[in-house]
Amino acid sequence: MSTETPTDRAEILAVRGARKSYGQVQALESVSLSVGAGEFVTLLGPSGSGKTTLLKAIAGFEDIDEGTIRLGGEDITDAPPGRRNIGMVFQNYALFPHMTVAQNIAFPLEMRGVSRAEIARRVEDALTLVELGGYGARLPRELSGGQQQRVALARATVFSPRLLLLDEPFSALDRKLRENMQVELRRLQQRLGLTTVFVTHDQEEALLLSDRIAVMSNGRIEQLGSPDAIYDNPANYFVAGFVGEANLVRARVEGSGAGQSLRLATGEALAAELPPGFEAGRELQLVLRPERIRWLDQAGDASNSFAAVVVEHLYLGQDSKYRVRLESGLELVLRRQSLGTDRPRRPGQTAFVGWQASDMRIVP
Ligand code: ADP
Ligand code: MG
Repeated sequence: MSTETPTDRAEILAVRGARKSYGQVQALESVSLSVGAGEFVTLLGPSGSGKTTLLKAIAGFEDIDEGTIRLGGEDITDAPPGRRNIGMVFQNYALFPHMTVAQNIAFPLEMRGVSRAEIARRVEDALTLVELGGYGARLPRELSGGQQQRVALARATVFSPRLLLLDEPFSALDRKLRENMQVELRRLQQRLGLTTVFVTHDQEEALLLSDRIAVMSNGRIEQLGSPDAIYDNPANYFVAGFVGEANLVRARVEGSGAGQSLRLATGEALAAELPPGFEAGRELQLVLRPERIRWLDQAGDASNSFAAVVVEHLYLGQDSKYRVRLESGLELVLRRQSLGTDRPRRPGQTAFVGWQASDMRIVP
């Protein structure tokens, strides 16, 4: 697995072989991660996969048992949090409730001994940047949840940190507001060129925001790559199932050379494009994204085609999702545009469905 930064960026953060356990629980198992200047990297994984532990280790709130952490070339593995010059935003980052918005944002500058005039100027700039100009005199409780998170963002960035860390910052916000904040964060991050590590369990959020995504499970990085690489070429079963929706089907390799095909556990034979080195008899998992399956006018209109019965239709507005059952009993999920050229399909109807060999991905 690659831990390389993109070649056009200087490395800012380098985590090497980080391990951390809490008693019997191995929260991090030899994690390595490299983040380039101005890059937005997301740690994506289910609850308990080690995302917060890794973020806290980078910030200095948790010591790691083994490994090193370097920031801007400097070894900070044992540096106290205050020396790391890192900005942080948490899900419920309680702003200081008795301080005004301006005082909250000024706090990290005061800690650093910045002059009064300079503080006033930078707080004003930070407020403008997060579109809260004129809100400086308010108390946190006089702001909405989204506005409070913008203040937290201003406070985490006002001292020009070398690195910005965010731990599920928008998960308490409702959907519309969350989407606005995601776009605002990405703009702010790009405008300031902030090197950022963002934590979420929400795969859509990760795909939308990130230059690269590190998919985590059980204290390990399962795959590190661009959003499209993670989505289109998942490295393993876990990533394929966790990022995006997927039909995951067990199959076995049959034949050899150009005549190779796949046999599903349910009996169907499939035309497939297999990477070299897959011998007959090998068991694997097929990944087939719902949007890759099409309705066919007739059998044979795609290299893999099957008769099916429509079991369920879920209308999602822009898209529609269908569950279909093949003759073997195998159920597949299709996703099509509701206003596309497809004619309507209703539960109980029969149809042909299909996909090309190149639409499938194979994972161990
Ligand atoms: P995530 O942020 O991905 O949900 P965490 O990093 O918080 O995951 O937790 C990783 C694992 O470490 C989990 O099994 C969690 O229960 C455990 N863990 C985290 N913090 C502590 C702690 N302070 N004491 C004991 N176990 C912890
Ligand atoms: Mg967490």
